[in-house]
Amino acid sequence: MPTLRTTAQLCDHGLAPPERRAALEAVAARYAVALSPTLAALIDRHDPRDPIARQFVPNAAELDPKPEERVDPIGDGAHSPVDGIVHRYPDRVLLKLTHVCAVYCRFCFRREMVGPDKPNALAPAALAAALDYIRSRSEIWEVILTGGDPLVLSAPRLRAVMQNLAAIEHVKVVRIHTRVPIADPARITDDLVRAMKIKGKPTYVAVHVNHARELAPKSRVACARIADAGIPLLAQSVLLAGVNDTPEALGELMRALVECRIKPYYLHHGDLAPGTAHLRTDIAAGQDLMRALRGRLSGLCQPTYMLDIPGGHGKSPLGPNYIERNRANGGEQVVIEDFNGRQHHYPPSAG
Ligand code: SF4
Repeated sequence: MPTLRTTAQLCDHGLAPPERRAALEAVAARYAVALSPTLAALIDRHDPRDPIARQFVPNAAELDPKPEERVDPIGDGAHSPVDGIVHRYPDRVLLKLTHVCAVYCRFCFRREMVGPDKPNALAPAALAAALDYIRSRSEIWEVILTGGDPLVLSAPRLRAVMQNLAAIEHVKVVRIHTRVPIADPARITDDLVRAMKIKGKPTYVAVHVNHARELAPKSRVACARIADAGIPLLAQSVLLAGVNDTPEALGELMRALVECRIKPYYLHHGDLAPGTAHLRTDIAAGQDLMRALRGRLSGLCQPTYMLDIPGGHGKSPLGPNYIERNRANGGEQVVIEDFNGRQHHYPPSAG
């Protein structure tokens, strides 16, 4: 089976009902569609609420944007000094090498910028200008390759970028954000893994995974190949209604990640991308889920729940909060809640 890129192909493979084809074609005309054979094989065609299908099969609700949603929900544009660079925080930049992905996630926060009809890679002159920008800013300690998906690039092209970054003295760390080990694990060849490594500087790989079922055997092998090469793996997940918004689904995902040597890093609250309201939860529900994980799952399985503040103001952790401070009689009293919801004073009273 090839990667499915049209609603006709989705219908032909039993992944969308033919009676919805016309409505879904209107969605596909607006936002890119791609479902890889690896992920298509994980979908239960008999389950109308399948959590994998929900992430990749278009939904008519995508053409019903809400007033609070934005074309550029996290404000990349406000922090883009040159093409391909987002410089939001002092010590790190995003370097967006391509606008193409192996799959197109229906909740994507860059859904207006990614897809095959967009320019599919930084042209050589634009890439040179982006690298010049990084070279000229000695405060840039970390470069984050994102996109699109940087691992859709060939090994030689990725290697060339990594070698350029390696030659910049002040860049000490390179991070690669990708969905390829999950969506197209066969791309994670030894050659591509070698291209990710640069001498004397660590590469980190942040894999985007939202449901435990995405960590199918071939994807586990791909992640293991990266880990065995000495590259630490992190996971970024998006909290998605109907996909991972129960303690069971979220807990199972976090444990599966740790079992694959992937440290859960961020659980993102869904961004205000156009037409994605049906996939978002509210923040209180996300905090309740985080409370449900705390204490019941190993500390290794705890991501940080984050909101990318609309408008380009950066990320902030959303809690939940376990501590209350009361200032009384010139002192400070702290009340701390344990994972069972019981409250304790800190420090405890003497005796
Ligand atoms: S892989 Fe990442 S950039 Fe590409 S569609 Fe999915 S969320 Fe967006």
